[in-house]
Amino acid sequence: MKRFDLSKLRIWPRLVLSFTVLLLFSLLLAGLSLYRLNELSNNFTEEMGQLNLDRETIDEIRDSSEDAARKLPVLLGASPEERESVYAEINDANHNLDRVLTRLSGGPTTAEQLHAIEGVRAGLASYRELVKATIRLIETGENKKALHLLGGKTEATLVDLTRAIRDLSAASQIAAIERAKVVRDEIQQDRVSVGILCVVIFSIGCTLAWLVTRSIVVPLARTEQGARRIATGDYAFRIDAGGAAELGRLASAMNVMAQAVAEREDSLFKMSNLDVLTELPLRNQFIVQSHALLARLVKAKRVAVVICMDVDRLKNVNNILGFEAGDALICGTAQRLRELFNSDACVGRLAGGTFIATVGIDNAAGAELVAERVQRELNTKLVWEHQPLDLSVSIGMALFPAHAMDMDLLLRRAEHAMFESKRQRLHATLYSAKLEESRLDHLSLLSDLQEAIANNHLKQFLQPKISPFDRTMHGAEALVRWHHPVRGWLSPAEFIPFAENTGRIRQVTQWMLEHAVQTLADWQQKGLNCSVAVNVSTLDLQDPMLPARVNHLLKKFNVAPSMLQLELTESGLMAGGDDPIRVMHGLNEIGVKLAIDDFGTGQSSLAYLQLLPVHELKIDRSFVDGVNRDARRQDLLKSIVDLGHSLGLTVTAEGVENEAELEVLKAVGCDLVQGYHIAKPMSSDALAHWMEGVAKSPAPQADDYACL
Ligand code: C2E
Ligand code: CA
Ligand code: CA
Repeated sequence: MKRFDLSKLRIWPRLVLSFTVLLLFSLLLAGLSLYRLNELSNNFTEEMGQLNLDRETIDEIRDSSEDAARKLPVLLGASPEERESVYAEINDANHNLDRVLTRLSGGPTTAEQLHAIEGVRAGLASYRELVKATIRLIETGENKKALHLLGGKTEATLVDLTRAIRDLSAASQIAAIERAKVVRDEIQQDRVSVGILCVVIFSIGCTLAWLVTRSIVVPLARTEQGARRIATGDYAFRIDAGGAAELGRLASAMNVMAQAVAEREDSLFKMSNLDVLTELPLRNQFIVQSHALLARLVKAKRVAVVICMDVDRLKNVNNILGFEAGDALICGTAQRLRELFNSDACVGRLAGGTFIATVGIDNAAGAELVAERVQRELNTKLVWEHQPLDLSVSIGMALFPAHAMDMDLLLRRAEHAMFESKRQRLHATLYSAKLEESRLDHLSLLSDLQEAIANNHLKQFLQPKISPFDRTMHGAEALVRWHHPVRGWLSPAEFIPFAENTGRIRQVTQWMLEHAVQTLADWQQKGLNCSVAVNVSTLDLQDPMLPARVNHLLKKFNVAPSMLQLELTESGLMAGGDDPIRVMHGLNEIGVKLAIDDFGTGQSSLAYLQLLPVHELKIDRSFVDGVNRDARRQDLLKSIVDLGHSLGLTVTAEGVENEAELEVLKAVGCDLVQGYHIAKPMSSDALAHWMEGVAKSPAPQADDYACL
């Protein structure tokens, strides 16, 4: 037979069932008690009535017999007529006695009572006999005998009768007391029964309450415990969903909730800790993993190198080939980094094309080996949609524990070293205290630069551009110098990069533009038909107000716009979407000439440049350096020059340092040349002198230029 399981029931039927059972038992108890109480009270009333009846009966017997006895002396002196009425009264009394005796013998009697009743009956019978004999004697006129009988035997019989009546009364009382005892015993018995019944009902009530409470509390406690366990993060834990439907549903709901929370937390964890594109840990997660790795390495008495790697030319790839190509480059790098490092390392993505890794090494020398390995594995080609993408990274490194114990600081230091690699165009740089010094220097320079602009501590230097064919000057490039009150002359390399990073470059550009236009106005006055080229940075090209500002200056100094040239780098015009192109068109519209600086170092194609309003191409000095010694590079230079010409551009070569290079440039048809071989950058006064003496001494003396 199937066992009845309370916990399988829902909560409301359980409560209804238990309370109904309790209620029924209580009603039963109340009904039984009432019934017994009623019965006992009836018995008691009956007993009391019987007792009263007995007492009345006894009183009546005594009164009636005494009545009859009292009449007898009256008969002695009465006339026959009077006697008739006395007889009638005696008869009445006798009848009454008979009736009472009958009643007495009909009620419930004990043996003592019966015996007493027999005594009364016998006494009455003898008394009656004597009364009859007395009456006979009176009727026969024997009054003396009658009187004698009356005073003697009759009197004695009356006394006996009275005693018998007293005995009956006593027996009745004893019987009543006995019956009262019986009633008391019954009450006592009933009290015990009711007590037992109460205990039984109480036990049933307690058991039911315990069962029902337990069937609710146990699953609830289980659910609560489970909820607490889930709250501690043990989402795999499942609460037992058995039991009452409601509690089972509650447990199931908690389980569903735990699963949902686990999934949510998992996706939150991924979102906040893992990079969506590469699934590599982001900065915080990387730091957590690195901490664990460093702890393991410390135990193994090993050290670590934190490497910061930045994918070169990612911005260009994004701008030229689109973000999908950029993403492919990032994913390719991530994949190779994953394959490169084993369990003694962790890899993460910091931002954009910057990756980070913490790698366990045996000693400081191991850092260089790791850097070489990274370079070897990463400096390759990736293929994206049949197009080869050049992959290379700039590396910065910091050592644990030599350079810092704190992961945050290690990362920052590796990052600074990486920036240094970028700045110096090195493959890898290991952090050093000197690097930190120069960084701090830059920070103090930032506030100084603001002052330098306001106090005219900046200087404009000019470097001429000449034709390699007739050596005539066609223009000059304006290059900024800073005469720092404490540090002396500072080269642009020392402050331009951080001025670009901090946005101060816009003020530098404005300052240079004002001086360039003033120089042009000066030259115009002297009848000199030469242009001045100003370098503009990425940030300037994102300023839609630049054309208006340039125009305003040209108008203010009444300078022909075509005399002003702006040099921009490929990366600058690829940087921020449409804006640089729009600004370029704005500048072109006012008549200003534009040149692409450092051509060949970026990724832009000539075909792309064709679409831009560019007038001049400045070939980077890396193409010129030693070109006279390498025929293949001469061919390359020639093809660039030819291509530039085919696009209708003036081609200028930078960094000409000797006559042999100049000859090659002439041979490949370069329009203009610029370099130390012709002249170093110099102040406008020095340039004026140079122009005067150019025929005599084309290579200026270093002293002329105050610096560099
Ligand atoms: P750049 O625009 O490529 O400028 C040419 C740099 O090459 C100048 O360095 C110049 O002194 C140097 N140079 C010229 N001829 C030779 C040569 O024959 N051999 C060698 N080795 N170098 C030569 P400088 O003046 O130190 O400027 C460095 C860079 O700083 C510039 O490169 C330019 O990108 C930036 N810069 C300079 N002035 C400004 C400026 O006013 N604004 C902005 N935004 N950038 C500037
Ligand atoms: Ca330049
Ligand atoms: Ca250049």
